[in-house]
Amino acid sequence: MSELVDLTATITEEMANHPNHGRSPLFLSGTRMNHDQAEDSWRGKGVEDLSLVNGFVYIAEHNGTHIDAPYHLHPDGKTIEELALSECHGPAVWLDVSDVGPYGEIGPDELAAAATEAGVTVESGDAVLLATGWDEHLPADRETYLGEHPGLSAAGAEWLFEREVSVVGIDCGNVDVAGDVSMPAHRVLLREGAPEEYTLIVENLRNVAAIPDHRFTFSAAPLPLSGATASPIRAFAIVD
Ligand SMILES: [Zn+2]
Repeated sequence: MSELVDLTATITEEMANHPNHGRSPLFLSGTRMNHDQAEDSWRGKGVEDLSLVNGFVYIAEHNGTHIDAPYHLHPDGKTIEELALSECHGPAVWLDVSDVGPYGEIGPDELAAAATEAGVTVESGDAVLLATGWDEHLPADRETYLGEHPGLSAAGAEWLFEREVSVVGIDCGNVDVAGDVSMPAHRVLLREGAPEEYTLIVENLRNVAAIPDHRFTFSAAPLPLSGATASPIRAFAIVD
């Protein structure tokens, strides 16, 4: 029997959200009824014992746990609905890189050492999830979570890209180091081989180190939002 490990941040209006992504998410009031109100409205239509509620959520493509499409960085790259499901679901490993601190760079040495320690080899087609532990700053300290996180160096991103990794996921708001607006890791992963070759990026993961086995199946399927640069996902690990 497989075990499922949820790696997704709960979506709330208060969640840590990069300012680039606007005033989002919003759960718009006025479109939501509670069950008492709904029952009254059905009763008004002559129907007893029924209430049915629904809501409306406004959310940026890059809010919460999400996957970036190549189009995020390249004009000829695939948009999110053009990705095959098989690109977002498959074999995976997770690496413990929690030794890097604030603004720490995860480079080839850290990746290689973490793979050795985990007893795994990063193979072509693997998703690689990086456990920095940075999600532990939430919900108490969103400033540190958003403003001081570690990330992949350009060389670290190259190390993964050269191994034809399918997806790089991280438990920070950004795969690049906080404050580096030149986005070296994003460039390598989504732009360097574009539009044909790319490594997808998943950000804002949770609980990566809770996956009981370093090798597992990772699922990160996006909504097929037409023309979108990213999509929120329900990220989870399937462990046999
Ligand atoms: Zn993103």
